[in-house]
Amino acid sequence: MSAADAKTNLLGLTRAELEAFVAGMGEKPFRARQLLKWLYKRCVADFDQMTDLAKSFRERLKEVAVVVTPSIITTQVSADGTRKWLLAMDGTQGIETVFIPEPGRGTLCISSQVGCAMDCSFCSTAQQGFNRNLTVAEIVGQVWLANRELANSGYKWEPGGPRVVTNVVFMGMGEPLANYRNVVPAAEIMMDDLGFDISRRRVTVSTSGLVPQMLRLAEETNCALAVSLHAPNDALRDQLVPINRKHPIAELLDACWQYVNKQNARSITFEYVMLDGINDQPEQARQLAQLLKDRPAKVNLIPFNPFPGTRYVRSSPAAIERFRDILNNNGVIATTRRTRGDDIDAACGQLVGRVNDRTTVRLGSKLISVAVQS
Ligand code: SAH
Repeated sequence: MSAADAKTNLLGLTRAELEAFVAGMGEKPFRARQLLKWLYKRCVADFDQMTDLAKSFRERLKEVAVVVTPSIITTQVSADGTRKWLLAMDGTQGIETVFIPEPGRGTLCISSQVGCAMDCSFCSTAQQGFNRNLTVAEIVGQVWLANRELANSGYKWEPGGPRVVTNVVFMGMGEPLANYRNVVPAAEIMMDDLGFDISRRRVTVSTSGLVPQMLRLAEETNCALAVSLHAPNDALRDQLVPINRKHPIAELLDACWQYVNKQNARSITFEYVMLDGINDQPEQARQLAQLLKDRPAKVNLIPFNPFPGTRYVRSSPAAIERFRDILNNNGVIATTRRTRGDDIDAACGQLVGRVNDRTTVRLGSKLISVAVQS
């Protein structure tokens, strides 16, 4: 273990943990508040720039703490303004984070794992298999980095304010609820008013349907929930989302309604990828409407984003519209997600698809091998 490994990465600490950390250094709790302000409101990582901290405290901090953010390997900007960063998480592994600017908001789509073990048949992340969970600091670091990069690039959301990420969705690589231990504190830091101060309704955890963790989430935190449904019956969902064989639709929906009750949430968003000839037929729309009618549910139809080697095809715009209309006419609110950033492979399900091309990149003093986008 190197000296740097032994130091605490402050980005991985919740407010309570940071208070305990400074208390352990013999400092008063307000020091933690000062640190939080530097870290999250001003995007400062260098202790020497934290000018209202006593010099002696800064020197002692340097001995025990670091602020390590993911390193950027590449930045891509789409014609529609969507940005994608390929980030190095440690020596060898890359993950992706996507920023989607929209009028009145900026949504950051973050990753929770390197790879994914859920094995959904229409998702390119599944093809690379599961590698490891991201730490709290690595999850929080994605938001930190996006805020800093966007501010530095002159991107303006609120005049005068450096923070540009108004919404966070755990819809990048990985299954967030399979990394529950790290995702929950990371979400807390995002929602803390002394942290990123993002409204609770604007931090969304998206899950393929890990029912026990959904029930735990309902008890332990307070963020928005999206569920990747993708099929209106178990026979089809078993094929598309294999976790369905363990937690079938009835059990999943029951957990959703419990979540809404516990959280006093407005509704659950159900994601539904539109696959030509597979799950986009009128009869399937009617079946879906039966499941969700009179429930606190919204459906978000996602046109399938293809990737090399996939056997699926995106539904036609007419099929998507027809599907949406059937839902709406049967009392279920449904919208179609606009595809963003597909020219840079930043759209849903396209993240780190092309792992066939590896290159060596210099990262500080280290040479690492990473997957690059061709
Ligand atoms: N594991 C989580 C979050 C990751 S993916 C989950 O399953 O919800 C975020 C969303 O993108 C999910 O709804 C996922 O099913 C969808 N998605 C995956 N691959 C896709 C593709 N190729 N085209 C469109 N959407 C896709």
